[in-house]
Amino acid sequence: DSLIRLQDVGKTYPNGTVAVQHANLTAGEGEFLCFVGPSGCGKSTIFNMIAGLTGQTSGQLDVLGTTPKEARRQSEIAFVFQEHTLLPWSKLIDNVTLPLKLRGVPKKERLAEGERVLELVGLKDYLKVLPRELSGGMKMRVSIARALISRPKLLLMDEPFGALDEITRQALQDELLKIWRQDKKMSVLFITHNVFEAVFLSTRVVVMTPRPGKISDVIDIPAPYP
Ligand code: ADP
Ligand code: ADP
Repeated sequence: DSLIRLQDVGKTYPNGTVAVQHANLTAGEGEFLCFVGPSGCGKSTIFNMIAGLTGQTSGQLDVLGTTPKEARRQSEIAFVFQEHTLLPWSKLIDNVTLPLKLRGVPKKERLAEGERVLELVGLKDYLKVLPRELSGGMKMRVSIARALISRPKLLLMDEPFGALDEITRQALQDELLKIWRQDKKMSVLFITHNVFEAVFLSTRVVVMTPRPGKISDVIDIPAPYP
């Protein structure tokens, strides 16, 4: 099935800035796509359009066979950002289960799912810890757990590891790959300006260039283990 399809997509902001022009891209389910390019090349703009947070001003954009907004409404898309949006005074289990609470999922089911995702990111012994007690890397794990709790078909990550030190970043890259390989149906769309990170993580690298933002190349990355 088609995961995302961009056909001649463009975005011009109201102030006249042409952020993205003539973007074409098709990706299938289960892919790990990295968007790489220098600051200002339109990565976040494309991310926000795929996320349904802003509309394109030209062209056609489908996500999971529907509009981005509809895909988001059906909780098929989840986000992870670089800055942590955790509630500092809520225990980890409450932080990660919040999306389910908002949807009225019964408590018992919420707790089971919360334990499942915290275990996925190696934090099953931290259910009752507060985010403020954790390191940056651990807070990122909690953010990933919270995104995974809705069992999204598409996980969108905007420079998630950009603020982490090198060792923590490598650990999280490995864990993210492990999680993605376990769930054959989940696709990841990952934004980074780090070429090494892009090549290490992804099945395809989407290279963007600025002035105006364009997709200038799409590179297949062979799997490390045949
Ligand atoms: P990247 O994420 O690759 O750094 P962005 O998508 O943030 O690139 O930005 C692409 C271009 O669009 C830049 O020139 C930026 O200044 C401009 N831009 C981004 N957001 C807005 C906005 N809300 N209004 C006007 N221009 C914007
Ligand atoms: P940073 O990423 O800021 O350098 P670390 O990753 O060095 O921080 O964190 C040190 C270790 O402390 C973590 O790997 C974790 O095992 C432990 N740790 C952090 N917060 C807690 C906590 N609330 N309870 C128990 N251990 C913790």
